[in-house]
Amino acid sequence: MSFRVRIFLLVMLVALSAIGATAWLTLNLASREVSDALEAQSRHRAEIVEQIQRYGLRHGNWPGVNRLVTQLSDSTHLHIQLQTAEGQVLVDSDTEAHRTAGAVQAIGYDINPRPAPGELYPAPAATPGPSAGPARASPSSVIRPGLDLVPRDLYGPAPTDVLYGSRAALAVRQAAQYRTGLVYVRCLHASLGAEPALGLDQAPYLTPQQRALSPTCLEQATAKVLGDKAWFTSYWDYLDNCIGAPRRLVGDPLGSKCIEAAYADTVVTSSAVPLRLHLGARGTVDIADFGRPALIGAAGLVVVALIGTFLIARQVSRPVRRLTGASQMLAAGMLDVRVRIKGESELARLAASFNSMASALELSEERQRRLIADVAHEMRTPLSNLRGYLEALSDGVVDPSPELFASLHEETLLQGRILDDLQVLALAEAGDLGYTRTPADLAELASAAVTAHRARAAEAGLELVLEAPAPVWVEADQDRLRQVLGNLLSNAIRYTDRDGRVVVRVGREDGEAVLTVRDTGVGIAAGDLPHVFERFWRADPARQRATGGTGLGLTIAHRIVTDHGGRIEVASQPHMGTTFTVRLPALSGPGRS
Ligand code: ADP
Repeated sequence: MSFRVRIFLLVMLVALSAIGATAWLTLNLASREVSDALEAQSRHRAEIVEQIQRYGLRHGNWPGVNRLVTQLSDSTHLHIQLQTAEGQVLVDSDTEAHRTAGAVQAIGYDINPRPAPGELYPAPAATPGPSAGPARASPSSVIRPGLDLVPRDLYGPAPTDVLYGSRAALAVRQAAQYRTGLVYVRCLHASLGAEPALGLDQAPYLTPQQRALSPTCLEQATAKVLGDKAWFTSYWDYLDNCIGAPRRLVGDPLGSKCIEAAYADTVVTSSAVPLRLHLGARGTVDIADFGRPALIGAAGLVVVALIGTFLIARQVSRPVRRLTGASQMLAAGMLDVRVRIKGESELARLAASFNSMASALELSEERQRRLIADVAHEMRTPLSNLRGYLEALSDGVVDPSPELFASLHEETLLQGRILDDLQVLALAEAGDLGYTRTPADLAELASAAVTAHRARAAEAGLELVLEAPAPVWVEADQDRLRQVLGNLLSNAIRYTDRDGRVVVRVGREDGEAVLTVRDTGVGIAAGDLPHVFERFWRADPARQRATGGTGLGLTIAHRIVTDHGGRIEVASQPHMGTTFTVRLPALSGPGRS
């Protein structure tokens, strides 16, 4: 798998795990949040409704309810919204807390802050009792008791006489108590700064202690309410209309519903308007609400992401680290170091390149070592010869003669040739020989070489023949090809006995330029043939040294031919002769391939 794909997959793995874990955590929290909110709603709904309702009942209006709503929202962790019957938002706990208002449930709950008549005394006997005082004997009061209530009646013991103790009369008395209570607490608020709230939810609505706070306010409130005859009249009118006959009023149990309706109609002028309560989850979740498990989950997620990234980084960098280590070892001279190759990724290819580089370095080092060893070996013998002769001359053991000096001179010339050849070889092996390739006629080059060697061949008593009937074009460095031809020809002359024959042939075979140098010389043993192109290899070192051979000619020829994209082969039979064949890519003509 490619390095890039591997990194991509690993990063995807971590990303997907992180996303999955986040999604799981979020879903979990959200569902917990929702179920908590639902549970809290059902747990707290009744309490919220009751408290807000009581607030409305005791205050008779809604200003200031926002404090209660905020307080309830804080204690229940719910989003509380109060709307009017027309759907207008009166108070919203999120807005109060300066949060973006979240959604609330569509279903609302009724908040009815209106007082209901408390338990009414059962009507006493149907006959007028003795307690009916003369003040209440006026015809109007007989029909509509309550119109002439006096302050003393309002908070004293409930009347029990036929007219005033009737349920209708007791109900209107309670309505008057509610109304008076509200006027009283507002007076208290204005004069004493007390909370303008009734002390009781039911008649008489004011506690005795509350009533004792300000007799002045109480007097004012009572006078105001009891003086509002039209208010009482509207109550009785409503009742009359409802029941249908005033006379059925007294002690009539069928009037219960009408009494309640008339009561509600009467208190509506003083009480707060009904509202709708809507609940929901809090608009925003602050970190404290997020809870311990969420924080632990988030921290766990961070840890997982960190571990994942660390593992990926390690996995990705491992092969790079291995390569770095190997390069350092290579730099320290451990040329046999290699890295393990796994797969076919970019890193595997890099590792393979590193291994080839290390092998090439090792090979080159080995070649260098062998070269130095060979050169040292080659130079040692002639140098010790020279030293021996020089010492013998200086000791007077050997007499100086022109022949000795000529031989010593020949020896130094040979050393010079060896060094020249070695330099060429070293340059060729390093790829620095610098060939200048031009189209060249191999037949013409062969002819020139034959001409140059003709004198030496004649001197050696050999017949030198050239068979090159037609030009054969190759793309080559002419000087280097001349060198190859010279090496092959001088070898052939050198290793062929008198009366022998050397034939140089140039031709084309299967699109290749073919040059053969065949002699009828000493030949090379079959076992030696694989070594002829090796550096410093000689079949018979003593004889070749005597003939002035360096043991490098064929190695150089082989190198030059190979560098020209060709090959050189040898075939030989001892005592019959040797044939060297050079094959090079041919051109169809000068300048054409
Ligand atoms: P040298 O300078 O010694 O000739 P070369 O590299 O040219 O070195 O040749 C290597 C050896 O191959 C020679 O020493 C010789 O033993 C053998 N050799 C080369 N050419 C011939 C040949 N034409 N006939 C027989 N042996 C040959």
